Amino acid sequence: MTTNTAALSNIGALDAAHHLHPFTHMDKLNEGGTRIIQRGEGSLIFDNQGKKYLDAFAGLWCVNVGYGRKSIADAVYQQMNELPYYNTFFSSTTTPTTLLAQKVTAHAGAKMNHVFFTNSGSEATDTWFRMARVYWAAKGMPSKKQVIARRNGYHGSTVAGASLGGMKYMHEHGALPIEGIHHIGQPYWYVEGGDLTPAEFGLKVAQELEAKIEELGEDNVAAFVAEPIQGAGGVIVPPESYWPEIAKICKARNILLVADEVICGFGRTGSWFGHQHFGFEPDLAPIAKGLSSGYLPIGGVLVSDHVADVIRSVEFAHGYTYSGHPVCAAAAIENIRIIEEEKLVERVRDDVGPYLAKALASLLDHDMVGDVQSVGLMAGIQMAADKKTRQRFAKPDEVGTWVRNHCWSNGLIMRATGDRMLASPPLIITHEEIDFLVGTLRNALDAAWKELR
Ligand code: PMP
Repeated sequence: MTTNTAALSNIGALDAAHHLHPFTHMDKLNEGGTRIIQRGEGSLIFDNQGKKYLDAFAGLWCVNVGYGRKSIADAVYQQMNELPYYNTFFSSTTTPTTLLAQKVTAHAGAKMNHVFFTNSGSEATDTWFRMARVYWAAKGMPSKKQVIARRNGYHGSTVAGASLGGMKYMHEHGALPIEGIHHIGQPYWYVEGGDLTPAEFGLKVAQELEAKIEELGEDNVAAFVAEPIQGAGGVIVPPESYWPEIAKICKARNILLVADEVICGFGRTGSWFGHQHFGFEPDLAPIAKGLSSGYLPIGGVLVSDHVADVIRSVEFAHGYTYSGHPVCAAAAIENIRIIEEEKLVERVRDDVGPYLAKALASLLDHDMVGDVQSVGLMAGIQMAADKKTRQRFAKPDEVGTWVRNHCWSNGLIMRATGDRMLASPPLIITHEEIDFLVGTLRNALDAAWKELR
């Protein structure tokens, strides 16, 4: 490294001077100073002061196999030496790129045998968005262009990604959404379900899709996109009635169904992909994060055979310099090999997933906990000012931030979305670490309940 020691001891000041962070109010961050994360091992990370944290968020929902996997570093080193880069544009491929395509599709459904590589989940969103329109145009239905997504969904930060996402505060930055994108409601029963049962509410919000297709005209709609479980929106697990109805509507109305698997993929739900957990078959599925456990940036779009057959018949004018980057592919192959060999998907489904669900259920006796939802190792803990009436706090964001900061101060990294606490730990998390997670969260809730009332 060429960076000198004086500079290293001053990273905080250099960061404040030169680095603009994502999703951050920089002036506010610089008042408190940034945290410098130095090293990771298993489910733990350490900052540059040596303070240890349980990373119950797996980085940013991505470090599925945990930190410190030497075999991934070795695979990357070997590939770097052999061939650090070649493109996949000019009638070319590289061995790891193609082997990864085979490996990743082997875990998708029997009818999903193709993948288009990207560098991130946002690029995966832009890729399927264009691919869906190209698909209908190539089938002689160019009017099928409109895309339906959900309020409070998240699909990335590119122009198409932020437009498809249903986050108002993101739309405000950059005059979004772009044309041709429409949003329907989300299956967030706790807050929006009113007097309906969860099953009734799940059906009701699914039927908003039917109404929107009716409004736009079936011949104008290309696709519907949703995360199997909304992640950034708050780990919102839909009622059981939701996905079967959505899948039925898409089929009946000839609309492509896109399952955004960027968070749910690669074992997080206790299945390889979130749609498998819910038992439906998407036509397209963007992936990223757990594909390489974040060791290097890589994403992609899984493409079902009937879409691939059409796309293969045209020259799809789309791609990235680093689509299928050989070094990132080598990291992803080794990452998937680890998930397979250590049976991490089964571990989530049969062992740590149920263990986490049981531990979280113990929080339901807390005055401030209205609901807990988890599937595998993806959990949302709903806080409420009055749990009997499902009444929220007046300022949900402040409550979430307060609890999150308390957790961080006590060595536990969780995230807050409004008044929901979110967990998404590495798939290798142990029972003891889950006990620490739930115990530390309970202490934070106790402190918050005292402080906030
Ligand atoms: N889709 C979903 C469901 C996501 O959660 C994210 C990122 N959190 C993205 C897309 C965008 O991925 P990236 O940040 O890699 O661009």
